Amino acid sequence: MFLGKINLNWCDNCNVPILGKKCDICNSESRKVNVTPPGDFKFPLKGDMEILDESFKDILKINFSEVFSEKVIVLNRIPGPDRSEEIIVGGYVIATVMHDFNNLRVALRPHFYVVAKEHLKDIFIQADPVAIESIKKGNNLMAPGIIKIGDYVKKDRDVFIVNDNKIPIALGISRISKNEKIEKGMAVKVKFLMDDIKIPDKKGDIKKIIEANRNYMKYREEKSVEMIKKLDGKNTLVSFSGGKDSLVALHLAIRSGIKFKTVFLNTGLEFKETIEYVKKTAEKFQLDLDIIDAGKAFFLNLDHFGPPGRDYRWCCKVCKLGPTTRYIKEHSNGPIYMIIGQRAYESKTRSNSGEIWENRWVPNQIGISPIQNWNSLMVWIYIFEHGLEYNPWYDNGLWRTGCFMCPSQDLGDLNIVKNNYKEYQKWEEFLKSYAKKNNIPDEWVSYGLWRWNLLPKFLKSRFGFDGFKRTSLEIEKIDYGTRFEIKANNVIDLVRLKNMMNILPKNSYEINNKIIIDKRFIDIGIQIIYESEECVGCGICTGRCDKDALYLKNGKVWINEERCIHCTKCIGPCPAYAFR
Ligand code: SF4
Ligand code: SF4
Ligand SMILES: [Zn+2]
Repeated sequence: MFLGKINLNWCDNCNVPILGKKCDICNSESRKVNVTPPGDFKFPLKGDMEILDESFKDILKINFSEVFSEKVIVLNRIPGPDRSEEIIVGGYVIATVMHDFNNLRVALRPHFYVVAKEHLKDIFIQADPVAIESIKKGNNLMAPGIIKIGDYVKKDRDVFIVNDNKIPIALGISRISKNEKIEKGMAVKVKFLMDDIKIPDKKGDIKKIIEANRNYMKYREEKSVEMIKKLDGKNTLVSFSGGKDSLVALHLAIRSGIKFKTVFLNTGLEFKETIEYVKKTAEKFQLDLDIIDAGKAFFLNLDHFGPPGRDYRWCCKVCKLGPTTRYIKEHSNGPIYMIIGQRAYESKTRSNSGEIWENRWVPNQIGISPIQNWNSLMVWIYIFEHGLEYNPWYDNGLWRTGCFMCPSQDLGDLNIVKNNYKEYQKWEEFLKSYAKKNNIPDEWVSYGLWRWNLLPKFLKSRFGFDGFKRTSLEIEKIDYGTRFEIKANNVIDLVRLKNMMNILPKNSYEINNKIIIDKRFIDIGIQIIYESEECVGCGICTGRCDKDALYLKNGKVWINEERCIHCTKCIGPCPAYAFR
């Protein structure tokens, strides 16, 4: 995935991260920090520090926050089976902390350890003090120096050499296995001494980071403000979600001086603290705030769709895009410019969309992101530089805020939610009863497998289970040459279908005791059958009809037959059809 270069550099002089080439404090050239792409950074807040303390205490017997209390620390979220972060101190990745998916606990892997699969405590060879001294001088570990061998030590695999206190001294390649000992010769070929990395001594804090990046940030901020100024006089909204990125986008919009309205989309799954925080922020900046409320749309549709998944995000369409479409239709006849705090680094789709884009699901919305090419470290520096109050959920250790049970979150993050938010427990109860009702194995809930409709390979092989695919309407086409007959696995509501079929030109279909559709319109016809049967009333299609022929009644869309001109323009992205 290409997301632009990762700009994390370090000033070894001042011991702070640098976004550009030079440090604005000492003017010296910065050094590139080697981190795993794509590069999603933050400074550890309270909840992150607790995770770091827990993992370091457990494995290395030290208190992270005490040892590194005066140093600048940066975290880099990296891809992995579950929540994983590189810990950067002094411009070096000193360790990776991860939510261990196998054991459902926090685990720590000192930097060079990532290749080993098992847990540190069982992959060690304890050496005697004389051997330790010799290793520190650059020698390998010889067989007579061995005191104890951990259970998972394997020949030709990574192993830690630890001292009497179980403190790792070095990492090397083992020449022996637990059960295959040797009397003499080399036991471990040492690769790294654990104190190999010299972390610069200088103290640092956020003020120093701001100083060291002042010119770079100023340049980038001005560019973003200029971009927003171009919207002056246009119908402009700022979408404020209560997250860090939209906070920065909102603040840049305020600085630009243009006139805009702020909207907050309450999906019905927001943390209550987020809603309070958004209102408080709106008051503080005296914003003209509209709350677009999806109401109970999620829960009303949960039975129909089942739990949402990463590969099955019906929730976004129903709870976000539907209400936004309806809002835009109500507030404008033409295009509305929506300033959104979206960044390319967040995902591939986002990186492809550029700074200005149209949303194929939401007619008339033109999205603009003034921070499209910012990385998350810039976002955090901006927030601290301008003294902005951020959503309190970040202090709990979340990297992003949003719906409380969003399936795109890792289990490590959902655990934080579970421990701090009662609603999540209700959600878990729902999942358990759903699993029971559908004969789904327990792991579906305990390992968060519900977050996929079809499991990724590594989970499929681990759990011997493909995932739980929800059943929906199935349609069979019988080919009569120029016409098709449609058969379905369910009874079709013909009153609704007759109404919805108005979308097609007259004479292109017949609905009597059979459903017959002209070959030319067969694909649209099938979509109409799904829309007729499975419509969830999101209202997305209503935004595409310029004759105002579509309306919502009792949670479903209907056609005003007198207004409809059978133009088929309303046929487009629809969740009932997309997630069939
Ligand atoms: S047919 Fe129903 S589900 Fe599909 S877009 Fe229209 S309102 Fe939404
Ligand atoms: S867009 Fe409106 S007028 Fe055109 S087919 Fe759909 S409902 Fe009818
Ligand atoms: Zn410097």
